[in-house]
Amino acid sequence: MRTVATHCPYCALQCGTRLTRERRGVSVRPTDFPVNRGGLCQKGWTAPALLDVADRLQHPLVRRNGELVPVDWDTALRVVADGLQRIRGEHGPDAVGVFGGGGLTNEKAYLLGKFARLALGTSQIDYNGRFCMSSAAAAGNAAFGVDRGLPFPVTDLGGADVVLLAGANPAETMPPLMQHLRSARLVVIDPRRTATAERAALHLQPAPGTDLALALGLLHIAVVDGWVDDDYVDTRTTGFAAARQRAMTWWPERVERVTGVPVTAQRQAVRMLAEAGSAYVLTGRGAEQHSNGADTVAGFIDLALALGLPGRPGRGYGCLTGQGNGQGGREHGQKADQLPGYRMIDDPDAREHVAGVWGVAPETLPGPGRSAYELLDALGTANGPRALLVFGSNPVVSAPNAAHVARRLSALDLLVVADFVPSETAQSADVVLPVTQWAEEEGTMTNLEGRVLRRRRLQVPPGHARSDLEVLHGLAVRLGEPGHRYPTRPREVFEELRRASAGGKADYSGISYERLDAGQALHWPCPDTEHPGTPRLFLDSFAHPDGLARFAAVEHRDPAETPQRTFPLTATTGRVLAQYQSGAQTRRVDELNEAAPEPFVEIHPDTADRAGLTDGELARVTSARGSAVARVRVVGTMRTDTVFLPFHFPGTGRANLLTGDALDPRSRMPEFKVSAVRIEPAREV
Ligand code: SF4
Repeated sequence: MRTVATHCPYCALQCGTRLTRERRGVSVRPTDFPVNRGGLCQKGWTAPALLDVADRLQHPLVRRNGELVPVDWDTALRVVADGLQRIRGEHGPDAVGVFGGGGLTNEKAYLLGKFARLALGTSQIDYNGRFCMSSAAAAGNAAFGVDRGLPFPVTDLGGADVVLLAGANPAETMPPLMQHLRSARLVVIDPRRTATAERAALHLQPAPGTDLALALGLLHIAVVDGWVDDDYVDTRTTGFAAARQRAMTWWPERVERVTGVPVTAQRQAVRMLAEAGSAYVLTGRGAEQHSNGADTVAGFIDLALALGLPGRPGRGYGCLTGQGNGQGGREHGQKADQLPGYRMIDDPDAREHVAGVWGVAPETLPGPGRSAYELLDALGTANGPRALLVFGSNPVVSAPNAAHVARRLSALDLLVVADFVPSETAQSADVVLPVTQWAEEEGTMTNLEGRVLRRRRLQVPPGHARSDLEVLHGLAVRLGEPGHRYPTRPREVFEELRRASAGGKADYSGISYERLDAGQALHWPCPDTEHPGTPRLFLDSFAHPDGLARFAAVEHRDPAETPQRTFPLTATTGRVLAQYQSGAQTRRVDELNEAAPEPFVEIHPDTADRAGLTDGELARVTSARGSAVARVRVVGTMRTDTVFLPFHFPGTGRANLLTGDALDPRSRMPEFKVSAVRIEPAREV
């Protein structure tokens, strides 16, 4: 029998677990880790099944005569390295792209960024976290000088009187979090009456794409009704006058006309927040995944600042990050515009520091590259990458405008996918590299509260699967790089990551495996080995040079698409409890598949009547991009102008066949939450 203390392989809460391997298999128990305190959701309880999925990748595969056939590692890595060399030689280093993932450990994310910039010399690297919380990152950086999902521990929420959740549904996406919200009265902003909204004291149900108008309206009420914390605004912020002026044009009746949220409910929401002794504003993907997502989050931050919440004990603003290492994944250099330590890639000091750690001249480092969707959109075009390496991501299902993305992937000269299951993206690859997962590897993850956690190995991987670090090392050597630049032991990579992050916004230099293994709770920044870490940011000052938070003074814009005659409804996409992200992992777990077996579309009874649809039949949902076929669920919890589809499913039910390519100008976040559609009975799938 072998037992290790580790964390759930899925979402950003990173619930603490104890895994035990016995003769009859692997079992999981929740631990008393602060975020989950003995709780797990259905995904966490069934996580051991991931270790035994029937179609686990165990051999490298290379496509020959149209078929993926098993080969040895040397052959696979040689095929990849030769292909990359040829493409780089013919088209230059930016002809190779890299697409990372928010589920990769810190060590993998760091080494992937280094590999791209040094071994490949490409600027073309980004990751699927761009589709997750990049709008909150852009808004948080602008407001506070640094972005960390929650700048306070999850447990602080336990003392809250009121929590406003804008576009977040933790009752389904991270259920153990709800125990910390038990004593709070919830104000939930969501077009759907979600499981979280069911528990709310007040549910505001705006039309999709109008969240920013609502945020501006709430700020308007705070100003006019005298709820602004003048002392806090004067001493801890700057830019309020401009924000107030913007909000003045969003009087409650206008907001009701635009959003559909009644004036009384708007007033009640502000009063609840303002009168609470302890109040928090939290955003999720519902507020963030818009072509105005960064401004929408900024609108909610402006509201929180006006009420005097951020950076005070028992109060605050935060973003509920989604993917398991969504936080750490964006700190170590797999983002198109960033270097390790959350440094901007066009900052000369940042380049000099990181280049020094890597032992190269700063001028050899590439500059910023394309964001995730723009990278996918450019594949196979005259100026775009001709080869793509995908690590831990499944863009065929998870990227917007999915049919177009699949066409771009098929236009590549070389598609290489490293994964542990044959995801839909892997199935279309030229080379598939089988890698380790979760309980087969050591490393670190950083959860939504900026707390660095140890992932521990329970068992060896099956067959010939290797760690991603070994894959990167093997490729780098075959590309002519010195092997010592690409360590294969996670601890060695982490030691280098510490040096690379030193002095950056996300400073890990004081965090070590030894301290984590001793049970220390270390939230970044942690600048030296005596430092206790920083569970609460901004208590004394914000991270801007003058210590003040910035109001954003944003203005509402309509979504890229609004309903019209051909497409009279709005489709919005999201998640369900039993599936995770593109479903590549959870769709392989029987119990989860039984709970959520197929794509569905939620629709209001009146809308279903008008469309001639009944509960349980198949419907075709069509946008300007294409159609998705899904099982009808007639529910009274939807707005009559909106339908909802989960995005976890492949094939003809892919919700992302509907979503478009409109991007937020600041965060480059695609507009997953608003697509103009029509719906009708599906005569055939
Ligand atoms: Fe895993 Fe997230 Fe569920 Fe916790 S809430 S068990 S981390 S999926």
